[in-house]
Amino acid sequence: MANPAAIRVTSLYVHIPFCAQKCAYCAFYSEAASGELINRYTAALVRELEIVADDLIPKTIFCGGGTPSLLNLRQWETILRAMEKLNLLGAEEFTVECNPATVSADKAKLFRDFGINRISMGVQSLDEKLLDRLGRIHSREMVFKSFDILRAAGFENINLDLMFAIPSQTMEIWRATLHEAMAMQSEHLSSYEVIYEDDTPLFEQLKAGEFSVDEKLACEMYEELISQATNGGFHQYEIANFARDAKSINRSIHQSIPSLACQHNVNYWRGGSFYGLGPSATGYVHGVRTKNWSNTQLYCDQLEKGKRAIESSEELPPLRRAGEIAAFGLRMNAGWPFAEFERATSFDLRNEWAAEMNQLAERGWASRDTDRFQLTPQGLRFADSAAELFLR
Ligand code: SF4
Repeated sequence: MANPAAIRVTSLYVHIPFCAQKCAYCAFYSEAASGELINRYTAALVRELEIVADDLIPKTIFCGGGTPSLLNLRQWETILRAMEKLNLLGAEEFTVECNPATVSADKAKLFRDFGINRISMGVQSLDEKLLDRLGRIHSREMVFKSFDILRAAGFENINLDLMFAIPSQTMEIWRATLHEAMAMQSEHLSSYEVIYEDDTPLFEQLKAGEFSVDEKLACEMYEELISQATNGGFHQYEIANFARDAKSINRSIHQSIPSLACQHNVNYWRGGSFYGLGPSATGYVHGVRTKNWSNTQLYCDQLEKGKRAIESSEELPPLRRAGEIAAFGLRMNAGWPFAEFERATSFDLRNEWAAEMNQLAERGWASRDTDRFQLTPQGLRFADSAAELFLR
């Protein structure tokens, strides 16, 4: 039964933990897919959706992974029909992550028919050798072909994910990739520097001395990204995220976040609540942070017994949670309007973190005016270190 007294959660993340093969740099929870396990997972996910549905009225949904587009039409239809029955469709923004090797016209049509209106495509590079180096299963041609299929199916909001500072990637290659990506005219662009996570093949190669990290080149590549994205009509709104404004939007009334920014992620960075379903997914609901088991078998076992597969849950002290929210929000170019921070956390940034704000401003990493605190372009490059100061 829905609790009419409670405010229902408006954001839903679904983790789909299957990939055709593991990429060399990836530390996300995912595994090679077998048809049988995916069917079992699909049924378990439907059960988990049923458990939380009454507390949800989604404005944003994000299906990430893993490779959500690896699920076949029948498996997707099972999930989407269940969501329809549970009144979970109709979100303003409903994103599915797709690998270019697994997009088809039939899948794109099914997605559109059920209200999925945003696709995030994991491109990473448009250089064949680098795609191979990263262990991606798709070719550059598949990127262009899939993009055309999605456009033909009516998707008007597509994100391209790109990576830079990949071992053996030169500035010339990066420029060419950015140039081709700009020509695709997507609505959104996310671009991250390669990270070397423990227990990944790329990290092992680094440790074995097969290549070295060139920090200076990585910084120059980031500058190139900002420059080409800005010249290409994108607005940077977070360290790694760029979006266009919808043609009908007058930017002056939309403040500093472009209208085609990913609303789902903006909710995270602004400290909003969200359900996280599927193996390894985290959620933050009614002040409690949860994390599901990072094990698909265990996830299915639990849900088959009618229980959510929560490994841990934690209710954070309000000041600690506010510190985390401060840190997330500083990743955004808009920084924190003081009033908005207070609405989100009940704390005043100017009282609790005055010393930290001064310290960052003196270093040239941040600026402060009467209504907001934000990192400067230089500060954004070191946002993780700046954000750490706010954690309690
Ligand atoms: S496709 Fe994505 S989730 Fe899967 S292994 Fe590659 S990077 Fe990781």
